[in-house]
Amino acid sequence: MKRILFLITLVLSCSMGRLSAQMERFEEMLPMMNADSLRQTVLDLQSFGTRFWLHEHENGRVGNLRVAEYVASRLNAYGVQTSIDSSLQEGNHWFGGPYSSMIYNVQGVMEPDGPSDSIVIIGAHLDAIATQPSGSSLMVLPNCPGADDNASGIAVMIEMARIIQLSGLRPHHTIHFMAYDAEEYGLIGSVHDAWQRSERGDKVVLMINNDMVSYQPDDDWQLCLHWYSNALDILPVAAELCEQYTDITPFVPSDAENGNARASDSYAYSTYGFKAIFAIEKTFSLSYHTDHDVADSNNYDYLSHVARYNWAMLYHYAFATPTTSIGGQTATPQFLVYPNPATSSLQISVADGTHPYTVQLFDLCGKQLSTQTMDHENGNMDISELPSGIYLLKILSGNRTVGVQKVVKK
Ligand SMILES: [Zn+2]
Repeated sequence: MKRILFLITLVLSCSMGRLSAQMERFEEMLPMMNADSLRQTVLDLQSFGTRFWLHEHENGRVGNLRVAEYVASRLNAYGVQTSIDSSLQEGNHWFGGPYSSMIYNVQGVMEPDGPSDSIVIIGAHLDAIATQPSGSSLMVLPNCPGADDNASGIAVMIEMARIIQLSGLRPHHTIHFMAYDAEEYGLIGSVHDAWQRSERGDKVVLMINNDMVSYQPDDDWQLCLHWYSNALDILPVAAELCEQYTDITPFVPSDAENGNARASDSYAYSTYGFKAIFAIEKTFSLSYHTDHDVADSNNYDYLSHVARYNWAMLYHYAFATPTTSIGGQTATPQFLVYPNPATSSLQISVADGTHPYTVQLFDLCGKQLSTQTMDHENGNMDISELPSGIYLLKILSGNRTVGVQKVVKK
């Protein structure tokens, strides 16, 4: 009996040891995000000259097949199984007119460690566009380097495949590495993919989207996290992981500032009911959709920290178990505070049934600065008089603490 107990203890302590080793491995990989390898991917993609999806090649073929083959081969080299999903798309574009052409989406698959039918998607669009005004319309330029928009997002996705292989860690959910075609013509590739997943009944845990994540002034690194109303539980986790594991300050836009959530591939997934989150540089590139969007304008140190954020998100949602979790809020959070950082006021939304509730504001020394009772799910707190700095906001429902969140006053 004693011996059996000893064996059980040994097995338990070994498995505990392995679990913490997994977390350690996660952290060891953070500084391995490599600015040079990210830059090389951006240069490779730029070297295609154009990634406009209706581009005609010298041999008469149209479109981004070669770009898709390049992305697939890069993923392949890191042990990801790849296929190219090609399909004919027909429609009418607001300035391009009627079209009928092939799209090429890349799908990379990394199988899980054990049985799981759940999928975590990391995606970015592989196409690019550069335009200039032409009368009342726009003309597509022959050269579409698309370094920031969106070679940067593809570079992060490929970097994740490299890091996972290097880590030796295996996910417990399937990871799909997706590169979408024809995003710039109205999310054509991602709508096609989300529709297929919805038809098949794919169990998607989360779609992580990166679109324009490398242009940023060196004195103010911020990453805007556009959110979707069906995935409010994802947002605070993403903000927390960005805060904790990168040198970038996460920016959570207010409802009014969140309009661009509809401007990239993650929106396609949210319209089919899948959860998604969309990261984009806070200071917007001045070269957007021009032929000046070149590799030299990107900030690769910033991009390597965006890659850290992605690694933390992937680890949290595809690798970690409750005992190896890195995010504080694994359960569905009961409230949301935005914008954060904020200048004049904070919007506070709580889950149904939580109101009335009390909001207390503290400085970092723990001194209570204000208290306010809210009667409605959506409250507003004026912080215009507060000096700039970091504060803690505590939400109470009766005597119960609903949550505490750090807020930044600019
Ligand atoms: Zn884009």
